[in-house]
Amino acid sequence: MKFTHDYANRVKELEVVYIEYQDGVPHQVTCSDNGYCDHFDFYKSCYDDENLMYYHSGGGGSIRDLQAPTYVDGYNGASYWMHESASFSDKYKPKNITRLKNPLPLRNNIIDPFNEELSHEVYGTIDYCKFCDKYYDENGCDDHHVWDEENGVLKYIDGTEVE
Ligand SMILES: [Zn+2]
Repeated sequence: MKFTHDYANRVKELEVVYIEYQDGVPHQVTCSDNGYCDHFDFYKSCYDDENLMYYHSGGGGSIRDLQAPTYVDGYNGASYWMHESASFSDKYKPKNITRLKNPLPLRNNIIDPFNEELSHEVYGTIDYCKFCDKYYDENGCDDHHVWDEENGVLKYIDGTEVE
């Protein structure tokens, strides 16, 4: 599964090698850039609960040295798919997570989490809104986020800082 990442005028052809799901929804995706990792965090889209948004959260390291996912006892919703070219580092073993043979079909049977029909990329920060109890892209929450020009921080309408 290929993904063309167009970021700050740098276009990279990536290969999706790892998808971690929570309750059937992509949560973290790792792509290979010639054997090196590019990590993406996935969130529910702030515009549409059925859709997703993603954020490039970092990179580096070999795709043969991925950090194994571990989940707390009692949570049964975690699963992952990993391409044969990738593997976990020997240091940790995956815990409380199911390995899938194939990536899960998402809405409209699309399996590619980066598909434009399903997802949009967030280039700025992703911020939580405590009033809505959800995450927003760089445009923030229209109803509850205000930018404090003077201090250069994002605040809620009640004056408290957004964590
Ligand atoms: Zn809000």
